[in-house]
Amino acid sequence: MPRSPQDRPNIILINCDDLGYGDLGCYGSPVNKTPYLDQMAAEGMRFTDFYMASPVCSPSRGAMMTGCYPSRIGFDDFEGRWVLFPGQGVGLSDQEKTVATLLKEQGYATQIIGKWHCGDQPEFLPTRHGFDHYYGIPFSNDMGRQTGRRTNYPPLPLLLDENVIEEQPDQAGLTERYVEKAVSFLREHQDEPFFLYLAHMYVHLPIYVQGRFENESDNGRYGAAVACVDWAAGVLFRELGDLGIDENTLVVFTSDNGSRARDEGGSNAPLRGTKGTTFDGGQRLPCIMRWPGQVPAGRECPALAASIDLLPTFAKLAGTAA
Ligand code: MG
Repeated sequence: MPRSPQDRPNIILINCDDLGYGDLGCYGSPVNKTPYLDQMAAEGMRFTDFYMASPVCSPSRGAMMTGCYPSRIGFDDFEGRWVLFPGQGVGLSDQEKTVATLLKEQGYATQIIGKWHCGDQPEFLPTRHGFDHYYGIPFSNDMGRQTGRRTNYPPLPLLLDENVIEEQPDQAGLTERYVEKAVSFLREHQDEPFFLYLAHMYVHLPIYVQGRFENESDNGRYGAAVACVDWAAGVLFRELGDLGIDENTLVVFTSDNGSRARDEGGSNAPLRGTKGTTFDGGQRLPCIMRWPGQVPAGRECPALAASIDLLPTFAKLAGTAA
């Protein structure tokens, strides 16, 4: 029997890497083309004052996963560094409960695709934090051996669950692979509650992107990467519609921290500051929520909201408490 829309809705959390407040059409970008995300905003709610708990990757992500401030989970610094680096012996403690753990306990199928950045040693991986499966790069896309970049790291690993299945995957084609995996997951779990955390590699530098996006871009490779993120959202929305589970699915779109790529085309406009600063440009991010029939369409929410609100919100939707 089909589930009612409010009965343990599916949750898709789309997180971008370093996408700034002014990088989407529906947030005022005059250069990047984001028709699918603009449509998402028209069909859902666009938050104007949504904050991440930190202006850099690891603490921002750890906080969103646990609903805790970074210092509460030991993520205020990492052996003196701002974020986690390859091979560090620290990460998200197994004592912490993530949103995936909570949802899994409520019978959700759980999958993360993309960037984790809460620890790359086995005990810190997503599969030890409530995710049934993992497919992606465990940290930033520049922490490998790209041409012209630092070379003192091991080759960039692509993980399937806890195993490295590829080294230095072609980043230009990686987002398509992520989307393919996401679509398979939706099809496989269409009849049960699921939680998909799609954590994009884009638009963290350096950017490698398919020519089909670059050719259409008015903002170089940066605009092309934003367009690819937009395309990915379009594919997922189409799939939800085709599977007939649109009304059973809450989709949240956001970013881990602001842009520091102003010379490359990134924008936090009209906010002051960048990634790495606690000005609004570092931590106030785009956030759109869409759930047909439940979240009013075409609304703007000016209330203060934050990524640490997501865990208790998702928990309540799933019929439990944080
Ligand atoms: Mg980031």
